[in-house]
Formats: sequence, C-alpha cells, structure tokens
Amino acid sequence: MTSSSNTVAHPYFAGALLEWYPRHRRDLPWRHTRDPYAIWLSEVILQQTRVKQGLPYYLTYLKAYPTVQELAAAPADEVLRYWQGLGYYSRARNMHHTAQQVVSEYGGHFPTTYTELLKLRGVGQYTAAAIASFAFDEKVAVLDGNVFRVLSRVFGLTQDIAAPASRRVFQILADQLIPASAPAEFNQAIMEFGAIQCTPVNPDCLFCPLQSQCYAFQHGMVNELPVKSKAKAARTRYFHYLVLRHANTVYMRKRGPKDIWEGLYDFALTETDAPELSATELLDVVEAVGGQVATDRVEEPIQAMRHILSHQKVEAKFHSIWLQQPLPAAALTTSGLAAFTADQVENLPKPIMIANYIDKNPSI
Ligand code: SF4
Repeated sequence: MTSSSNTVAHPYFAGALLEWYPRHRRDLPWRHTRDPYAIWLSEVILQQTRVKQGLPYYLTYLKAYPTVQELAAAPADEVLRYWQGLGYYSRARNMHHTAQQVVSEYGGHFPTTYTELLKLRGVGQYTAAAIASFAFDEKVAVLDGNVFRVLSRVFGLTQDIAAPASRRVFQILADQLIPASAPAEFNQAIMEFGAIQCTPVNPDCLFCPLQSQCYAFQHGMVNELPVKSKAKAARTRYFHYLVLRHANTVYMRKRGPKDIWEGLYDFALTETDAPELSATELLDVVEAVGGQVATDRVEEPIQAMRHILSHQKVEAKFHSIWLQQPLPAAALTTSGLAAFTADQVENLPKPIMIANYIDKNPSI
C-alpha cells in the first residue's frame, strides 16, 4: 500500500459490503447455483463481456451442453458457432479444451481447490478464485476490474492497476479483507458493488455506505482513482477479402493459429500495408489462389467494414468475384479454401465482421 493508503476502512469494509449486497444485487442465473461447471461457464463468458451481452450466451451454452461431458464431446465448430458475436474467441477454444481436460484428467468433476483449478487451461487467478469461492466456499479473494477500482478508491491505492506488479498489493489487501465466514458472498458483493455502485464513471457516492470511510471521496480523488496507464495504440491492418463464388457456392477457409480469429471461417484474404488494392493486384490475387474471373460477373461494389479489437483495428474490403469454373482441387489444397452452400455457411463459426457481411449480402 502507498503512504496515502487508508487503513481506517478495514474493519468496516466487509460488513458494509455484506449488508449492501442482498439489497442491491441483480438476480442472475449463475448466482443460484453451486455447480462448478455452470459457474465456470459464466465466468469464462463474462470475461471482457458485459452481463447483459453475456447472459444469452450463458443460457445457450447451458441448454446445448448441460454437463461438462456434453461440452467436451461437442464438435469444435459448433462450440465456436455458439460463441459468434462475443469476441475474444480464444476463450471459446480454451473453454472447449478445458471441458475435455476436466473429463479426461478429473473424471468429469471440476477440481475443488484454487490451486488445483489453476492447472486448467484458460483458468487464471481470477476464474480459479471465483470457482473456488462460489462453488466450494474457499477463502480466496477475487480480483477483477471492479475489485481493483473499489479497493483503489476506498483504500487510496495509487499503484497502476495495468502493471502486473500491482496485482500483488491488491491481492494482499483483498485477502486480508475477505471474511472466512462468507467468502463467496464477499466476493460477489465487492464485484457487484463495483459494477453498480462504485462505477468507473459517475459512481453513486451520494448514497454510498462506504462514503465516510472512502479515501477517494474524502480526498476528492474519485475521478483520479484507480490509476491505469493507457494501452498501446492499436495498429491498423488492411484486409482485402475475395468473396469467390461459383454457381450456388462461396469459397471459405478456416483460419489458422498465430493470428486473430483462429478456428473461425472467412474468405480468401490478402493483407496490405495501405487501404487500397488496385484492380490488377486484385486479379493477381484471384489467379494466385487458382481462380479465373468470369468477366461478365465482376459486378458488386466493394463494401468496407471496420472491426476494432483490443490491440488492433481491422479495415476490411470485400470484393465479390464470380468464377468461371470451380477452383481446381490443387488450388483448394494450397489455399485451404472449400466451397460451401448458403446453408452450410450459416452453420460455420465466423468472425462477426464476416457474419455481418453475409447478412448484408443474403445471396451468399
Ligand atoms: S464513496 Fe464513491 S468512490 Fe467511494 S466507494 Fe463509494 S461510490 Fe466508490
């Protein structure tokens, strides 16, 4: 803790939160279960996702796969397809893998301790603490963005919450605050308090039970805390998609590892350093994937779309191109492309940008 930190609030803090929580909490389905599978599902979905957006996905997954065994046995494409629109697709891939790990290494039962849960793929400190406390009442404090904010403001912690080294300071404090008698309730309460009372912008300080103990409020620093350094500016990538079509099919391919959207389907793609691609360059790319353009069927205007990810911005243009003949087998092998009908395309997992393009072009 910094020299400015506030130790007065310690004894008061947990009690105030535990009193506040039952009167203000939102009624959410994962709060009615102690099933570690359902809790884990909700936590994976809610990482980097708002409750309102994540809720239908949670219900969809639980309905499609009521048990970890059913999720483990599901086809990867189907698991990714249900994730479509939620972003950060590595979560879905990890989730599927973790389900298989739970089945193969733990006989279909989630580990019951924080330390053991950390061994699961995609389960970091936050998720392990959430499952261990919510499902098994282990006294281990969760740290998410809401918790960082509440602790920083109430206790006057000025460490940069984006710096990995700060985590330890917050974790030590949170572990001191969590009561052994109600670890699950405390963790839920502090996160909920950050989500609806001590919000990033315009926190409800006026009606806050911690107001008299809150360092930030008492020192006029509510807007300065928590301290968070800015992320690096996102780089821009220019994608030119070749929507190659023949008869009633369109060519798509599954994206490989080591780039965004692994395992999702998009079209033939060339990436450039600048926004534009000339007509000649475009035709060269079509030829490079083994295609021959049907000269009377290069008709559709190019459509531009933008997609902003956490660390990069994708500016994409779609070039709809009709082929004279199907792509030869050798070209399919080298490019990874395959022909799909509209019904098949519907069932493929796709980046939301591709799904939006297809929605706007119902002929695909
Ligand atoms: S007084 Fe304001 S800043 Fe302090 S805990 Fe309450 S809502 Fe947050």
